[in-house]
Order: sequence, then structure tokens, then C-alpha cells
Amino acid sequence: MAGRIIDLHTHSLASDGSDSPAALVRKAAAKGLAAIALTDHDTLAGLEEAEAEAARAGIELIRGIELAVQDEFGELHLLGLFMPRLSEGMCEVIDILQRQRLSRNQAMLDVLAAMGMPMTMDDVREHSGKVAIGRPHIALAMKSKGYVPCRKEAFERYIGWNGSAFIPRMLLSPAEGIRLLRDQGATVALAHPCLSRRMTVSRLDAILAEFRQYGLRAIEAYHSSHDPEQIRLCVTLADKHDLLLTGGSDYHGTNKDGVALGTGTGRLRIPYELLEKLREYRRSRGLSV
Ligand code: AMP
Ligand code: FE
Ligand code: FE
Ligand code: ZN
Repeated sequence: MAGRIIDLHTHSLASDGSDSPAALVRKAAAKGLAAIALTDHDTLAGLEEAEAEAARAGIELIRGIELAVQDEFGELHLLGLFMPRLSEGMCEVIDILQRQRLSRNQAMLDVLAAMGMPMTMDDVREHSGKVAIGRPHIALAMKSKGYVPCRKEAFERYIGWNGSAFIPRMLLSPAEGIRLLRDQGATVALAHPCLSRRMTVSRLDAILAEFRQYGLRAIEAYHSSHDPEQIRLCVTLADKHDLLLTGGSDYHGTNKDGVALGTGTGRLRIPYELLEKLREYRRSRGLSV
């Protein structure tokens, strides 16, 4: 069918989105999207619920995950698309990542308490889906305690990169993250490559050449944060490095203002054809679609 649109980057309550996986899928179907990928941070926990609802709603659900990795200049995000149902290696890594999240969250709560803003882990948990808990949930707890007027201020003053209570998270290296996802049989994409203000054209060019060797196969050219020039750059570099294109809104529900499912900040329109090309490539490699 011509004109069908998709969204291959969304978050649910299993990480830092505000919609349950089922509600997210229903919303996508109501919006007329043909397919979505659920790509929660560091967890596959929302996928079963999303798949069951997708079957009922008549929409395609791509099993995904978003992983942060650390390279020499900062944090980059990977999307694993077409994640398998059962994967022991993946469960092991997810367990490690979740344990690290818990200790890092507690460390930030300790700093905040010392600054006169006491909160318990249960205060934070209350604002989450109780799976991948992190800074967005701490920000919500700070707001409900009255320590900050809004989430933005929680990040700017306290828990964002330059905040006084920020503690970094242990992250995989790009090679580890890409190989992990690739070894699961996922198609690995570099998420929102132009989101970081520190990203330059030459650095992106170099990263793609390097990451391709680890198994990177796609680049998220279409993203709510990309302007038309950045989209063109991604498309050009994808062509140069023989990478496929992906696209998604990075919808987080009420946890990310101004980003709508499917349409992002309003201009996003990701054609179904992108998904067909990903599948075509996977079929040619004998991978599940
Ligand atoms: P964490 O994984 O616990 O380090 O938290 C990272 C998440 O926090 C990201 O996925 C975003 O959803 C959110 N986030 C990061 N920086 C900001 C910010 N400055 N304002 C609002 N949300 C942010
Ligand atoms: Fe997020
Ligand atoms: Fe991301
Ligand atoms: Zn995301």
C-alpha cells in the first residue's frame, strides 16, 4: 500500500516512556502507522506485551532495544532492530546493565540527599514501570517532592551531564555494543547521529567507517532532532559507507515534550519502504524478518 508510514524508535514504561507497551501500540494503530519498533533503553521487557497488542491491533511490531555506548568523545546510542525472542547472551548483559543502573541511581540519590533533597528508591520507582529505571524517573520524583519546578531543571541543575549530582553510568564500548547486538542477529543502527552537539561531519564519517567493521548496518537518518540538512548528511554518509537507513520519532510519551509518535516534532514522515529495505537485506543474509 502506498503512503504507509512507520516509526522505528519508541519508548514505553519498560524504560523511560510514559505509555505502557500496549497503550503505545494502540496509539500507533490509531494514528494509522503501519509498523513501529519498541526500542526501550537496556531492556526487552516491554516487547511481549507490545507484540500481543500489535497482533490484536493489526500493526507490525519490530522487536528493538536502544543501548548507550561510550566512545572517546562521549556517549552514542545504538538501536538493535529485529531482536530475537530468546537470547542468553543478551539476558546476561541486560542483567549487568540493570544492576549498574540500580547502584548508579542509589549513588545519585545519596548525593542529592546530601544536598538536602532526600528521596528513597521507592519514591523513584513510583514514577517508573519498574524495569529500566534511570534519571528521567529521578527527575519526576524530584518534581513531585517539590525540589524542582520541572524535569528540565532537575537535569540542568542536578542530574544532567553538567549537573552537580550527575554520576556517569558504566557503558559498553562501541565495539562491544555493536558486536553484542549483531551476534544476536539484530540489525544495528547508529541512533540519532547528529543529536550530540559535539558531533562533526568528519567525526561521523570516521565513526561510521570504524563501526561498520564491528557490524553496524544502518544509520537513523530520520529522527525528531534532525533538521533537513542533517538528514541529507546522514543519507549521503549512508550511501558512502553502504549503510541502510532507519528512522523514528524517539517518542517517550509525556516524558519528552513536543515529540509525537510517528510525526516527531511535526515534520517526520518515515516511509514503509525503509522497513522493506531492512527486511530485504536481512532476507538476503538468512536473518529473521
Ligand atoms: P539514564 O539512562 O538514566 O542515564 O537517563 C538517560 C535518559 O534521560 C535519556 O534516555 C533521556 O530520556 C533522558 N534525558 C537525558 N538528558 C536529558 C535532559 N537534559 N532533559 C530531559 N531528559 C533527559
Ligand atoms: Fe530516553
Ligand atoms: Fe537515544
Ligand atoms: Zn531513544
